[in-house]
Amino acid sequence: MPLVNTKEMFEKAYKGGYAIGAFNCNNMEIVQAITEAAKECNSPVILQVSAGARKYAKPVYLRKMVEAAVEDTGLPIVLHLDHGADFEMCKDCIDGGFTSVMIDASSKPFEENIEITRKVVEYAHAHKPYVTVEAELGTLAGIEDDVKVEHGSESYTKPEDVEEFVRRTGCDSLAIAIGTSHGAYKFKPEQCTRDENGVLCPPPLRFDILEEVSKRLPGFPIVLHGSSSVNQEYVKIINDNGGDLKDAVGVPEKQLREAAKLAVCKINIDSDLRLAMTAGIREHFNAHPDHFDPRQYVGDGRKYVKELVKHKITEVLGSNDKA
Ligand SMILES: [Zn+2]
Repeated sequence: MPLVNTKEMFEKAYKGGYAIGAFNCNNMEIVQAITEAAKECNSPVILQVSAGARKYAKPVYLRKMVEAAVEDTGLPIVLHLDHGADFEMCKDCIDGGFTSVMIDASSKPFEENIEITRKVVEYAHAHKPYVTVEAELGTLAGIEDDVKVEHGSESYTKPEDVEEFVRRTGCDSLAIAIGTSHGAYKFKPEQCTRDENGVLCPPPLRFDILEEVSKRLPGFPIVLHGSSSVNQEYVKIINDNGGDLKDAVGVPEKQLREAAKLAVCKINIDSDLRLAMTAGIREHFNAHPDHFDPRQYVGDGRKYVKELVKHKITEVLGSNDKA
């Protein structure tokens, strides 16, 4: 099966009450970890690439690695551009074999966001085969590669905007802001409460906004960015092995599972992969100070990322046995 776009994948996910995991990849071990986990769970999967990943690994390497994963697993896999900053970057990816792109003009005024998004949609939909387009309304706090928004400057999606936006742009899916956030420090400690172990508990997601949006856009796939849960077992391994991550906090998995049962068809996970990879490598170095073969320590990182992705597919996304 060649790379696919998100159209059929999201239709099935919407009807089936589950979401597809969109995992960011930057190197071979991460691509392998994600797709081997998806294979073992018989799950469709989205591999997404940010501008930072393109800079780090070069687009051609990323595309060829993802094609190798398709050949190796036989799964339905989408190659998606995460946070395309402008028309040119989206066009470059569409021309280069991506099957889905995100145009993120969410920092622009409403009319300008519509204009830029519509231009990308026209180009993507004219492409053969059809390339799907994700757009965004509202802004998330936090840091993800080149996308930086100060805490306090984020803004929730306004449900009253969504019908006009989708109608006028023709986009295939819409990322909305309901309180998720980019990075491993999603919430400031003062936004949270602490449980009996001193672990931060973030404010709940705005399910009222999600429900209002899905009422206005029946059957339309919604996307959540910044949806790592910053699983504390990995933070602990990192900190127990020489790391120093203080008050790293994410979105609770239970809330994401709820969102996946509703209109949310794509859940973006990046920081959790980085944490799992770092935990595996730090633990390895601490246990084996004499090792210097990258296959040994990067291999342990890959093992942890794979375990994490299997957990996400079965316990959070619900996309297992849906390939
Ligand atoms: Zn994002």
